[in-house]
Amino acid sequence: MQRLLILLASLIVVHSSFSAQPNVVIIFADDLGYGDLSCYGSPTIHTPNLDRMADEGLRFTDFYSAAEVCTPSRAALLTGRYPIRSGMCGSRRVLFPNSEGGLPKDEVTIADALKGKGYATMQIGKWHLGIHDGSRPLDQGFEHQYGLPYSNDMDARPGLPKGSTGSPTPPEDGWNVALSRDGEVIEKPTVQTTLTKRYTEEAVKFITEKKDKPFFLYFAHTFPHVPLFASPAFKGKSRGGIFGDSVEELDWSVGQVMNALKKNGIAENTLVFFTSDNGPWLIMGNQGGSAGLLKDGKGSTWEGGMRVPGIAWMPGRIKPGVAHELANAMDLFATSLALGGAKSPDVPVDGVDLSPLLFESKPLPQRPFFYYRGDQLFACRIGEWKAHFRTQTGYGQPKADSHVPPLLFHLGLDPSEKRDVAKDHPDVIAQIEEAVKAHQSNLVPGNPQLQ
Ligand code: MG
Repeated sequence: MQRLLILLASLIVVHSSFSAQPNVVIIFADDLGYGDLSCYGSPTIHTPNLDRMADEGLRFTDFYSAAEVCTPSRAALLTGRYPIRSGMCGSRRVLFPNSEGGLPKDEVTIADALKGKGYATMQIGKWHLGIHDGSRPLDQGFEHQYGLPYSNDMDARPGLPKGSTGSPTPPEDGWNVALSRDGEVIEKPTVQTTLTKRYTEEAVKFITEKKDKPFFLYFAHTFPHVPLFASPAFKGKSRGGIFGDSVEELDWSVGQVMNALKKNGIAENTLVFFTSDNGPWLIMGNQGGSAGLLKDGKGSTWEGGMRVPGIAWMPGRIKPGVAHELANAMDLFATSLALGGAKSPDVPVDGVDLSPLLFESKPLPQRPFFYYRGDQLFACRIGEWKAHFRTQTGYGQPKADSHVPPLLFHLGLDPSEKRDVAKDHPDVIAQIEEAVKAHQSNLVPGNPQLQ
């Protein structure tokens, strides 16, 4: 009898998960490390809203950004594809204000796919996927946009004092980066102090206005990427200095989004996913965040460069808990399309639909995860095992070290990648090499966009 009741209850849960087109909200922090939230072990940064999201949702211990730096990571999140496929990676690492490339128009983004299924779509915050015709938010499936075209440290004004980027009190007018709405510049230079607050107001407004139709909100915060700013309500409040202040304001913002969904009665029909575009920017010192027990940070294919916080929230639909499953940002593409009932594009897609894990607590299929630095494959993980073919610190090491045989780490026993056990496990290395060969054998690199 009890087993029958459990079976019936699970059928009801499965059925209700797919009863309508749920809304999708992706909240993307910039350069937030694995160790920068209370619920991921930060002793100095207080993040009660994200902690609540984790308590009520599914917190991933092994969630990855799809690249080690900003532009490729964002391209992969929105297209579900390793950035090598779209050409959104290379030796220049990210797009700069003088770059001529951008996300190719023919790439299908989450916004393109969900707009095609009747979703309202909006991008708030940092874009960094191109400023030219074809690559901008409104060209890539977003009906509305509010935010910055690239990083807040780009387009520095002439004569800016050296070291301003990593200063705890950067000049307000130091960077000429423009704030735009629906593609039209509305403020230049952008007043960065109130940026998180204003992004949040836009997000709450969009949610409230669109509550009666399905919507997709891609909310990509500017912070905690340096230069760091926080509004007066948060400045000077955190034990973690200005970095902590900016993360705590971001945490407040997440709380506002969750409250808006609850107030409008749509929290149970909205998947909210919080993550970061890459690890902490360690060369910024006290302004650079923390990867916790993981090695290195932004720019590197050591764990600290790409393993990031990942929290899924959908009250009543996602069973609260902690997931040790290997998942990554490209999965949000496949998951969003599945929720919206959109067909996957007719191109190779690297993400998988996380719905079985999120809504039915089913394990995901085992698959390899590839760590790229620019357009070079540096490492691969299968299960608990990670092999490094090449290694290089995120910044400051001019040339990569090559490893034959590759370095091998067991991430369950050794998450900090301290003990190379390659010589004891040639069979594991052979399996990983086989997976890399299979991946590379049918890979068609896209036209390089970052030159
Ligand atoms: Mg970044």
